[in-house]
Amino acid sequence: MTTTIQRVFNFSAGPAVMPLPVLEEIQRDLIALPGIGMSILEISHRSKAFEAILAKTESDIRALASVPANYKVLFLQGGASTQFSMVPMNLMTAGGTADYIDAGSWAEKAYKEAKRLGNAKLAATTKSENYCRLPQPHELQLTPGADYVHMTSNNTIEGTEYKALPDVGSVPLVSDTSSDMFSRPIDVARHGLIYAGAQKNLGPAGVTIVVVRDDLLQRSVEKKASLPTMMNYAVHAENGSMYNTPPTFAVYAVGLVMKWLLANGGLPAMLAANERKAAKLYAEIDRTGFYRGTAKNDCRSLMNITFRLATEDLEKQFVKESTAAGLDGLKGHRSVGGMRASLYNAFPDAGVEALVAFMKEFERTRG
Ligand code: PMP
Repeated sequence: MTTTIQRVFNFSAGPAVMPLPVLEEIQRDLIALPGIGMSILEISHRSKAFEAILAKTESDIRALASVPANYKVLFLQGGASTQFSMVPMNLMTAGGTADYIDAGSWAEKAYKEAKRLGNAKLAATTKSENYCRLPQPHELQLTPGADYVHMTSNNTIEGTEYKALPDVGSVPLVSDTSSDMFSRPIDVARHGLIYAGAQKNLGPAGVTIVVVRDDLLQRSVEKKASLPTMMNYAVHAENGSMYNTPPTFAVYAVGLVMKWLLANGGLPAMLAANERKAAKLYAEIDRTGFYRGTAKNDCRSLMNITFRLATEDLEKQFVKESTAAGLDGLKGHRSVGGMRASLYNAFPDAGVEALVAFMKEFERTRG
């Protein structure tokens, strides 16, 4: 089936553009899943059909990211923001310390939430520089024997992204990968826990993926009597993410996105495409000085590309006119202003080319 409806180029940071073949499959099968005769919106989560969808989604995630056997993949709700609480609730130990690397607004939110729950310490922060860069390895003040180190692999609002993981020794690394999960290969084995809300690269809003190492799950097992049941990773792991009703539609859609990723070369191919798309846009940003990238060059994100113009007035015009030209969602996050182009996996090359052409024309008429 082909979609005849006119689609704009969607630069939104999330929920974000989904692969068109995935939307078409959802559209085609929404009334009745083939062989099931009921909509994904209607089937019981305890049905064989949904169990198969969940199992396939999990096995495709495992295949895509080479998730080692000693990690569990969980499908949870409450968004990445709920993980800001669940991580410390489950992983902090009595008298222990958790280190937080604060390199963006979401990282700071995670830190603040952890501080409510226990002894969270800032290992480094670049807040005083408006989070325009990531802390250098030598700036990290890590606590020996910490319960874990928390980082945010891609700072969605400020447009910075780690190119290499920080060395945290044997301390478990916990990463909020909400805005770059599966945009490039990921070395799961170097993490203790990874979490990501689905609504950027993975699918629609409503499901949060958590990948957690078995030895860390043991901490949750020991907290069974004290933690609220729904906040305990071990409960979700033991029940195969079916302790309660999972977000069935969101899981199904994530499953289709995983199938699309596998059919399109997996994570190495995504990285190559994302590098190609981002390079085109950064080249235009850097071409004359009319546009100004806000992230330091060595930590520029491939996913969220942030830039500014000389005045806020000009920025307002840019957003208004680009929206009218079918380039949607370029307004930067309300906390930082400027512009932000989110180029997730499903964002097409043609959209980048359209934006670059728009930028050239905008500069020609206003520069
Ligand atoms: N972390 C990061 C890096 C994000 O980009 C976001 C959402 N934009 C969040 C956390 C919060 O996610 P949610 O809205 O799913 O709670």
